[in-house]
Amino acid sequence: MDLSNPGGLPNIQNTEIAFASKSNGELKKMAWLFSMMNKPLLVKWGSKLGLKAVEWRLPFAETVIKNTIFEQFCGGASLEETRHSIKKLSTNKVFTILDYGAEGKETEEDFLSTKEETLKALSFASSEKFVPIVSTKVTGMAPFDLLEKKSSGAAFSQEETLAWSELMNKMDALGRKASESGVGLYIDAEESWIQPAIDYVVDTLMSRYNTQKVVIFNTFQLYRHDRLEFLKESLSKAKAGGYLLGAKLVRGAYMQKESSRASAMNYENPIQPSKEATDRDFDSAVEFCLENINSISFCVASHNAESNLKLARWMMEKNIQKDHPHIMTSQLYGMSDPLTFNMASSGFPASKYVPYGKVRDVIPYLIRRAQENTSVTGDMGREYSVIQKEVKRRGL
Ligand SMILES: Cc1cc2nc3c(=O)[nH]c(=O)nc-3n(C[C@H](O)[C@H](O)[C@H](O)COP(=O)(O)OP(=O)(O)OC[C@H]3O[C@@H](n4cnc5c(N)ncnc54)[C@H](O)[C@@H]3O)c2cc1C
Repeated sequence: MDLSNPGGLPNIQNTEIAFASKSNGELKKMAWLFSMMNKPLLVKWGSKLGLKAVEWRLPFAETVIKNTIFEQFCGGASLEETRHSIKKLSTNKVFTILDYGAEGKETEEDFLSTKEETLKALSFASSEKFVPIVSTKVTGMAPFDLLEKKSSGAAFSQEETLAWSELMNKMDALGRKASESGVGLYIDAEESWIQPAIDYVVDTLMSRYNTQKVVIFNTFQLYRHDRLEFLKESLSKAKAGGYLLGAKLVRGAYMQKESSRASAMNYENPIQPSKEATDRDFDSAVEFCLENINSISFCVASHNAESNLKLARWMMEKNIQKDHPHIMTSQLYGMSDPLTFNMASSGFPASKYVPYGKVRDVIPYLIRRAQENTSVTGDMGREYSVIQKEVKRRGL
């Protein structure tokens, strides 16, 4: 596909627009950081040592992380601190999707705190024009085992029944708050063996809060061979239930884990047979959402340039207005800037998923971002080379 397509389509090769908000100093720091992440051994040992250094509360460990990788991939340590990133993004017409980034939480106290943080984020978003959506994960609010048991259809003990109703109450509080504040709530998709429970929770919230406009969004992982069909079924169910469907479309983040579990436990792998099959279903899902644009509000959540450009092209072919309230695209903060900023500059809806939280709480997220950007995964080419291109263009 010709990425420099004229006629109103974004030119994602334009690094000048992509990095317009970065000073020369910031750009050089970014180039240095990505060149460091391009060293697999450094990432491997740096991740381990960094994690330990923060755990042992070694002096300066948090400061070093905060001024390097945290600054690149997170919006701030608190909601207040994200204001700076939100403002910078908004000057380039890029929306922010707030994502409380604390992970690996397991106690009821942690679950309550995630709920409270998400409620705060929804309040905060309601007063920020450029924060239309907040994102959350069901595993941040309930034990993994509980979701697994619900998904398998096994009977709950009395204690589990209580824990399940506590989860439903927490999620309902978030749905109600989102609805009252006029802020969207994206709910992440996770491992396939807990996804039926998540789908149940999200469907329940959609039926309550999506009757007038879309507030609640489920996530559809098109790397699963059954999810295109599930998207279609979800729309039929929404129509029958008298509500609108919210759909965040992703390829899926747990491919290795899914395949290994399926093979270890000897059941059919839920993952598509090839990347091409995933791409084909992803495209079909986008087309399906566009065809049903009055009943579905959706987000193309992908770093894949072709997926985003296809959406832009199809919108133009179908004469769908560029700022249609039912369409959004999104990439992770600190990644794929040429895509996000050039989509926005051409008038298409564009946003960044902006995680925030205390440095020690977001370390697992940061390690994943660093690993993704090593040369091993091939993503390094996608990020580092465009930064280098802009460094050269500016003659730095
Ligand atoms: C804003 C945002 C929100 C997200 N939310 C979620 C979420 O809620 N849940 C979630 O699981 N993920 C989520 N992700 C991650 C997403 O699912 C992908 O892992 C990631 O974005 C890479 O896919 P891509 O479309 O960006 O790029 P691409 O590089 O085009 O695709 C890579 C993806 O293709 C798939 N793939 C690769 N090789 C194969 C193969 N051999 N066979 C079949 N499929 C293959 C995998 O899903 C892989 O991650 C989110 C991503 C973004 C940007």
